[in-house]
Amino acid sequence: MAMKIKVGDVEIGGGSPIVVQTMCNTHTSDIEASVAQCERLYKAGAQLIRLTVPSMSQVESLREIKARLRAKGIMTPLVADVHFSSEIAIAAAEVVEKVRINPGNFHKDHDKAKEQFAKLVEVCKANGTAVRIGLNHGSLGERITNLYGNTPLAMKEAVMEWLNMCVENDFFNVVVSLKASNTHVMVEAYRLLAEEMQSKGVVFPLHLGVTEAGNGDGGRIKSAVGISALLSEGIGSTIRVSLTEDPENEIPVARYLADRYDHRLYSSMVAIALEGKKAIATYRAPSRERLLMDFSCDFGKRLLDKELDEVELRGTYVDNGEEKVLDGSEYAEYLTDELMQAARRRFYRPEYIACPGCGRTMYNLEGTFEEVKRRTAHLKGMVIAVMGCIVNGPGEMADADWGYVGEGNGKVSIYKGKSPVLRHVPETEAIDRLLELIEKADA
Ligand code: SF4
Repeated sequence: MAMKIKVGDVEIGGGSPIVVQTMCNTHTSDIEASVAQCERLYKAGAQLIRLTVPSMSQVESLREIKARLRAKGIMTPLVADVHFSSEIAIAAAEVVEKVRINPGNFHKDHDKAKEQFAKLVEVCKANGTAVRIGLNHGSLGERITNLYGNTPLAMKEAVMEWLNMCVENDFFNVVVSLKASNTHVMVEAYRLLAEEMQSKGVVFPLHLGVTEAGNGDGGRIKSAVGISALLSEGIGSTIRVSLTEDPENEIPVARYLADRYDHRLYSSMVAIALEGKKAIATYRAPSRERLLMDFSCDFGKRLLDKELDEVELRGTYVDNGEEKVLDGSEYAEYLTDELMQAARRRFYRPEYIACPGCGRTMYNLEGTFEEVKRRTAHLKGMVIAVMGCIVNGPGEMADADWGYVGEGNGKVSIYKGKSPVLRHVPETEAIDRLLELIEKADA
């Protein structure tokens, strides 16, 4: 079992209920908007709220946001999300209950990173602040990828270096994450890490998430597949479902997963028959949402692990008060296609990587992502990323074939793989340019 840590008054790990968290997509410097969003997220049931801190001046904004929330009686612990600056992480550790750092960009120089991390730990110890070592598949450093490739093993090895630094510094108020947009990579990386920590006898609690999962049904199914596969194995103490939508929408999805794997909620599947590696599952689902989540959790892991090759969905679900039959329906086919895609067993449409957006996002991410999806729907199997900012976006796109990355000031960069092929494209033209480039590359 993972050790128990405390973030403010919230306990994570050590047999505590699974903790649901999310992240603001406001600009942290916009104190009014950030406080209002935190308040809505608190009311929706978020137990931890993260805010991006891209500059030193925003550490002060964070301080003010926290003070205003506390004045309203909202005690939800806040988490500072820090990239590319160990100094900001150290400053934020005095202000909020937890700091998320990314080993891939904490400090360019590895030896200096160790020094700065020791300083961060000192401040955390003095203030009772927790740390998340939040590694993402897309932002693995060159040193590690040269040694282990761009693999789940590399993710595990990279994070173990940091966990060893925590142990050396006698600091255990730590949560770890190894997120990826690819459910296979994500599940494998967490499994490797869980096993390694177990064998070393120092088990830090894990924060689970499928990063850049996208939006709508696809984003929910993909998140449910990755997160449920691990929770069902007893791996994971806190979760975030990342959707390219209003962060309030993440909470019911995460709540479902927490309740289900804390055994407070059960699947609406009433029967299952197996024909070789095909399952025929019958549901009596009380709603469309429940069907989607139940089905994803019941079969995501089995498809991901190739225990099953096919699933057929039967039974009924309730939609707007009306009972609908699934047998042979388009909806059953659509949900099965989405699940197969999320488990990476069959690709019936493009694979989208879209960040959830945060205070660094400089354009209408949700609207743009919908438009990109609409206009690229025919490009089956292609991996297309839509990212909110030029600072983290390119690093986080992982294995995307093409990327649409917001630069700010109404401009966009278009990437082919890891390389920018067009810069400073006006937003109004960027989707056209992206499609032209894809067509040209295919010709
Ligand atoms: S890639 Fe998206 S979520 Fe990540 S820092 Fe940039 S805008 Fe925020």
